[in-house]
Amino acid sequence: MTIKRVAIIGLGLLGGSIGLAITARGLDIATTGFDRDPAVRARAAERGLVDQVCDTAAEAVASADLVVLCVPVGAMGDAARDLAPGLTPDAIISDVGSSKEAVAAALAAALPGACIIPAHPVAGTEQSGPEAGFATLFAGRWCIITPPDGADPAAVAALGDFWTQLGSKVELMDAAHHDLVLAVTSHIPHLIAYTIVGTASDLEDVTQSEVIKYSAGGFRDFTRIAASDPVMWRDVFLTNKGAVLEMLGRFSEDLTALQRAIRSGDGDTLFDLFTRTRAIRRQVIEQGQDDERPDFGREHGE
Ligand code: NAP
Repeated sequence: MTIKRVAIIGLGLLGGSIGLAITARGLDIATTGFDRDPAVRARAAERGLVDQVCDTAAEAVASADLVVLCVPVGAMGDAARDLAPGLTPDAIISDVGSSKEAVAAALAAALPGACIIPAHPVAGTEQSGPEAGFATLFAGRWCIITPPDGADPAAVAALGDFWTQLGSKVELMDAAHHDLVLAVTSHIPHLIAYTIVGTASDLEDVTQSEVIKYSAGGFRDFTRIAASDPVMWRDVFLTNKGAVLEMLGRFSEDLTALQRAIRSGDGDTLFDLFTRTRAIRRQVIEQGQDDERPDFGREHGE
């Protein structure tokens, strides 16, 4: 099974980046695309995000052997129902959603009997929309494929090959485990960033202009994450509720322990934790998941 025609539904950051990566890498794959917003469709055509922008989802998928849904996770079911009339029986249906159990259930309910293989490229930025996509988004990043029980191994392998051709490293995982792992590595960090930025902007005895003026002390790194798309992240928390609440419970306990250490002057506890976390940063860099230059490689100068 080789993928030759891909339909991309949702032409924002993820959808646009898939289309651009296919072109930039010179892959022998034809692309069609659809977005529900006519202005996004027009801009996608101008930027050449896909070979052909279609006016309906059914038209976009009509000859596709792979359909990739690149819409917010809460919109997956509706988007799948929209494209159903155009789908060919052998097409693989996949997605890029950030939570996997809920998306798998929504797709299965919308497209009974279809070959559904959900996936999540662990690659992104805080930008969204048709201007945001770029061809190298997936290079060197993991793509986690979460095949449901009984999934066709040939279809799983074809989807894995597709992501490898886009430059990703591919891993297979159970959907529930994916949701737990991503709750810790992505969803809770976003929740913390949203909280810190929200709390700082609500303070009464520190003015907002001071928060912004002195943000280089650490705050600005949280503002990047907290600038992420509100619709996408609302949907992630609503669809990965169980895993996020479980991890949040652990996080609250650890935060309480730190609070106690600070109150009681227990410097050893603080020092031990900060030493362990520094080692994690080293591992992230060693595994090529971030830039090793200080301060994320920002320019420092006049
Ligand atoms: P995005 O830039 O906002 O693009 C999503 C596009 O889908 C928007 O143009 C949206 O239009 C459109 N859309 C919404 N509902 C639709 C429907 N029913 N049919 C057709 N188009 C529809 O979002 P993104 O950042 O690419 O995220 C897309 C998916 O990727 C999400 O599921 C997200 O969880 C996942 N993901 C994101 C990242 C990241 O860092 N951003 C990383 C990995 C995975 P409207 O604006 O009109 O709603």
